[in-house]
Amino acid sequence: MIKFWNKRLELGLLTENLELDNELKAIQKEIKDQVKKKFAGSLAIRMVDSGSCNACEAECNALANPYYDLERLGIYFVASPRHADVMLLSGIMTFNMTPHVKEAYEQIPAPKWVIAMGDCPAMEGVFEKTYAIEAPAKNHLPVAHHIKGCPPTPLDIIKGILEFLRKI
Ligand code: SF4
Repeated sequence: MIKFWNKRLELGLLTENLELDNELKAIQKEIKDQVKKKFAGSLAIRMVDSGSCNACEAECNALANPYYDLERLGIYFVASPRHADVMLLSGIMTFNMTPHVKEAYEQIPAPKWVIAMGDCPAMEGVFEKTYAIEAPAKNHLPVAHHIKGCPPTPLDIIKGILEFLRKI
């Protein structure tokens, strides 16, 4: 037992990263302020998968957990593009999905923005260019901001959203 407690004291806390917590808190505060200022406190995001491997979406799912908790900052994921301010686009823009992505963009009421998430929409990812791939997304949509990564971590995505909010 003594051995166990000695080891615990030696290793310290492994489950919490206070530096990251403080960085995240500062980012969250600024996001909340920006959303309040630029979107009257409520920013609606429609996620669109244009042909991804789903890893980007899995990272995005983490944004709804109690740690990142985007809803607390006034950012909501909505089911219909008609309710959205921003399209969060993932995937490689496959030949089949490109017309549907464009259609979803058309349905978002103006003013509207597109944030590309992950390396795929910029054609910087792991896929080779073939007849079935229409990326980069900027050839089809006015991409306002790009969040790099394959996949980007939840922190990368949050930082990317903040960079976008500062820009507009
Ligand atoms: S950027 Fe990477 S993780 Fe995201 S959809 Fe493309 S291959 Fe998957």
